Amino acid sequence: MDPLERDVVLNTTGTARGSAAGQPGRSGPVPGGATQLPLTWDREADVVVIGAGATGLPAAIVAREAGCSVILVEAENDIGGHAIISGGNIPLGGGTSVQKQYGIDDSPELLFRDLTDWSVVGPNGFPDYRYNDREIIRAFADNSAPTFEWLLAHGVVFVDKAPDAIGGNSVGNSLPREMHCAVGHWPMIQTGEPADPSVQQTRSSGNGLMRSLEIAAKTAGVEILLKHRMTRIYRQAPTCGPVLGIGVDHEYERLNIRARKAVIIGTGGSTGNVNFRRMFDPRLTEEYCGLAGMPWSDQDASGELAAMAIGASLWGFYNQVGEFGSNVTKAGFIGCQYNYRHLQWMPGSPVFDRARATGLRVADWQNVILVNMLGKRFYDETGGQYIANNYHSLDPYIQGSWRNAANLKWTPNNFLNAALAGIVDGHNGGGPIWAIFDADAVVREGWMPVPPHVDIAAGFFFGANRLCDLAESIVMKYQRVPMPPKNLEETVARYNSFVDTGVDEDFGKPAPLYKIATPPFYAAWATPVVHDTRAGLRINARCQVMDLNGEIIPGLYCGGESAGGFSQHGLARAVCQGYIAGNAAAAARPLAAAA
Ligand SMILES: Cc1cc2nc3c(=O)[nH]c(=O)nc-3n(C[C@H](O)[C@H](O)[C@H](O)COP(=O)(O)OP(=O)(O)OC[C@H]3O[C@@H](n4cnc5c(N)ncnc54)[C@H](O)[C@@H]3O)c2cc1C
Repeated sequence: MDPLERDVVLNTTGTARGSAAGQPGRSGPVPGGATQLPLTWDREADVVVIGAGATGLPAAIVAREAGCSVILVEAENDIGGHAIISGGNIPLGGGTSVQKQYGIDDSPELLFRDLTDWSVVGPNGFPDYRYNDREIIRAFADNSAPTFEWLLAHGVVFVDKAPDAIGGNSVGNSLPREMHCAVGHWPMIQTGEPADPSVQQTRSSGNGLMRSLEIAAKTAGVEILLKHRMTRIYRQAPTCGPVLGIGVDHEYERLNIRARKAVIIGTGGSTGNVNFRRMFDPRLTEEYCGLAGMPWSDQDASGELAAMAIGASLWGFYNQVGEFGSNVTKAGFIGCQYNYRHLQWMPGSPVFDRARATGLRVADWQNVILVNMLGKRFYDETGGQYIANNYHSLDPYIQGSWRNAANLKWTPNNFLNAALAGIVDGHNGGGPIWAIFDADAVVREGWMPVPPHVDIAAGFFFGANRLCDLAESIVMKYQRVPMPPKNLEETVARYNSFVDTGVDEDFGKPAPLYKIATPPFYAAWATPVVHDTRAGLRINARCQVMDLNGEIIPGLYCGGESAGGFSQHGLARAVCQGYIAGNAAAAARPLAAAA
């Protein structure tokens, strides 16, 4: 086949979206097939950015302000990505003006050494920083403070307080670096309403960050095309030559957009694509369908797959597999599909029709037991999350000292492993996890176990007057085998006996407090949530995407959760890499000259 006729076809397999997730069909693409490079281009710009999230908006603004024409394509009908529904906690350090104002003596060098400190280990033994790519971390450390000042200059308002350690993970242990974006006056995606005026300058949220950047982008003249979903990246030849542009789908039409200088991928990661995420962890099968950030925007690996189809390499797999931070989290809400602990969808939200229920927030895990799909308990329900490092996580902390690991207080957290271990049907995934409770628990928690609080219609919540009936009623697509009623009855009877004795002989739950004895009984979805993507495309210090030979793919850039090599959670990595990529793309020679 003539290399110039080669193309990338992205199809719809391998994603939670449109299938299990009950989402409207949107592709979770895999590369393959063949079509032609476009004979004509529908649009063109110097820089084409994919994804209007934490990476894409800064990249687009920076490139535009450097004199480039910029088209930014966004798959959804609004900007923001995960960033707009995030907590807005953003760990930018290395000597920011606010750090200086509060006498915090940070520097790029200190930040670099923090983020590459082999000796830091989490309480369950997984190191946060050991497998970071030094080149990528150096670029982040050098650009962290400039990115923060750039955000200030582009209208982002931060809560007026000293940097702290709230909300960050894998952000470096030497100093506080966490800043907090004020929520502002714009309606929040979670509720459809603005925050109460009394907290608009003091409450942290990604809303203020992303709406401020949206205004900055429009002011600068970035052309934002909503509902334009990138489905392919065009390269001159399959594995050589420059990137030429992208193909997008827009309301059943295909558009081809030429990039004269650069294509920047800011598509936000891969955890929503079941087949893709299972490259890193085969256990994360389709039942882990409650992705943080969905149903607002997906992480369907479309950027990674389109780049891989033209030769790009992946990078830094450990950071995705490591059981630290929020790669996988325990559910915070129960009885609904999208149950991330820091994100509750309210009926006013523009995506509530897809979220379908608010869920029940569990204030006290003494009020429920958790059982696997066979109706058996597997751990102490009061156990917490995987933890990641931050300022004061280790005390004392001496940068680079072997004593950090030696002094570590070992507190294993195995909520996911323990759940999986009980399932021996040969399937890789652990199946659903159900929170079981009774009518008394409903009163103690103040729950309303009816829609829109719980999702009965889609099979994420069940109730019955007898435990045996409850077990039999649990029929939904991820419940691979029926729950044996006898198992559930025995599990609850044994747990109730632990309440009598005050000792959980099986899993050491501290003094089990409440029997499950008063009908009706309930089973609420409490399956863990997949959250961060921490492995992705191989990039260099300028955020240029690299191929499997370690060569730069001319004209292709990436940042944020679609890029690999950096274990840090969230916004700072994405915004900073967007800033780097935007600057590098603007400074690049036109691609035609390189061809
Ligand atoms: C509930 C929640 C709370 C969080 N809280 C914090 C926090 O407090 N602090 C923190 O540091 N991090 C937080 N995070 C993480 C942080 O929001 C993300 O790490 C960050 O937004 C990632 O940036 P990104 O640019 O890679 O992806 P995103 O911000 O998700 O942006 C990706 C964009 O690309 C679009 N897109 C995807 N595919 C295509 C395509 N094929 N064509 C066109 N567009 C496409 C998406 O629709 C999306 O708009 C949170 C995340 C969640 C879900």
